[in-house]
Amino acid sequence: MSVKRLPSCIPIPLDEKELKELVSKTKDWVVMHGIGIRSKTAFSEDSINFAPYLLLPSTFPRKEFERAVEIQTTLNELMHRVAHNQEFLKETLKDTIQVDEFTGSLYKIWETVLNEGVTQPLSLALVRNDLMLDSMHSWKQVEFNTIAAGFGWLGPASLAINRFVLEELEHFDKLQNLPENNALTGMTMGLLEAWKIYGDSKAAILVIVEDVTYNICDQRFHEFELKRLNPRVKLMRKTLTDVHMEGSLSENNELMIGNTVVSVVYYRSAYTPEQIPTKKEWGSRLLIERSQAIKCPSIQYHLAGTKKVQQALAKPGALEPFLSDPNKIAAVRDIFTGLFGLDFDEAGDQAIQMALDDPERFVLKPQREGGGNNIYGSEIRDAIMQMKDTKERTAWILMERINPPISTGYMIRPGGQNPPQLAEMISELGIFGVVIGDSQKIMVNRQVGHMLRTKVSTADEGGVAAGYGALDSPYLI
Ligand code: ADP
Ligand code: MG
Ligand code: MG
Repeated sequence: MSVKRLPSCIPIPLDEKELKELVSKTKDWVVMHGIGIRSKTAFSEDSINFAPYLLLPSTFPRKEFERAVEIQTTLNELMHRVAHNQEFLKETLKDTIQVDEFTGSLYKIWETVLNEGVTQPLSLALVRNDLMLDSMHSWKQVEFNTIAAGFGWLGPASLAINRFVLEELEHFDKLQNLPENNALTGMTMGLLEAWKIYGDSKAAILVIVEDVTYNICDQRFHEFELKRLNPRVKLMRKTLTDVHMEGSLSENNELMIGNTVVSVVYYRSAYTPEQIPTKKEWGSRLLIERSQAIKCPSIQYHLAGTKKVQQALAKPGALEPFLSDPNKIAAVRDIFTGLFGLDFDEAGDQAIQMALDDPERFVLKPQREGGGNNIYGSEIRDAIMQMKDTKERTAWILMERINPPISTGYMIRPGGQNPPQLAEMISELGIFGVVIGDSQKIMVNRQVGHMLRTKVSTADEGGVAAGYGALDSPYLI
């Protein structure tokens, strides 16, 4: 396979002396503009490191960027309808929930609230469609995130870094190729609109957070942006353990934290088993779902965001019940790579055989979020051999591996050397969407911005918070 290469936005390498000064200066600039992340290895609440970033923006084909932006509202619509199609979710997840305990527990919460009667028909969704270029001329979907989709702040912040660097280098003519990015305001406005719809000006927005938040700047900037847009809105940050201690339902199912009514619950946690460790936290998860508060996301949206659902949507004829416009259906189908279930049927057996024959062609994925969970390359064979005769296999999906073009750039990370070495990288673009609606109608459906993450080309995964990737912004060519 020939390696595809993207050109650099300006001639590189940069002069060593100039580069060294520039890196020192940008590191200070980045820290001074709140573009940080807490260290996992040396955690302290009192210190924040600068977030790793690309000195220069990576090139991205303009047409493909625009195609990603354009299709976002269709994907929002699709996923909203999927989340509200009980039959489809039940059928798709029926085997997976038997073996994957976490997804099974989420599913039980969904069943419980359906049986009891849904108290809040509206959902707020702050979503992110992630994609990689497959060739220079087409991108493919990596996944669609429906819970805790981060980087509403770090996305626009990356644009600010790269703009600053190009200005420092006096490449003013290049700035026009950096697309604007208002993700933070767009995401925050979604929260505010949901709060307004709830209709109680004294009610708070509750952010569900982890015990320890590493991606603190990204989260806090949403909070501060909310206050900038409306200083009167009350906002609280609580863990699910806090909610267990302080939360309750009022007589008419309003969610209460102490004496404060909660209008909107925004999850920045609760997407991995470690984040809902005991019965107490599962109790909180159910309490919230039972309440009248508008959830971001509601439980059906969380389930719709699983990899198993993504794989089911790629089956022939799967999109038709959800989208009526044949052009939209064709456009969505076009962004899927090969996605295969490992169910106990002919298709599942065939997928197992394909993976054993040529593991390098695939990524093996469980029903997990947050990075670091997938299996790649030769390890796929071992994993498949272990699970192929057990029910376990139905909790995984097999996805064709996307091979993005390589760009060359300078990655700047805390503790890295200065001047930095040029390295080969690959990027993943995320497009943000906001949806508000119920099972009958969609009231808000918007595309609100983007983020770009870049990792060295030899790394399988690229999460920034997970420690693999770096902030970047697209330079359109
Ligand atoms: P998560 O929900 O944990 O983020 P992803 O599906 O996004 O799961 O996978 C994590 C990372 O693995 C992605 O950010 C990407 O770097 C890599 N990855 C996932 N799927 C593919 C694929 N089909 N081809 C190449 N890389 C992939
Ligand atoms: Mg994800
Ligand atoms: Mg991901």
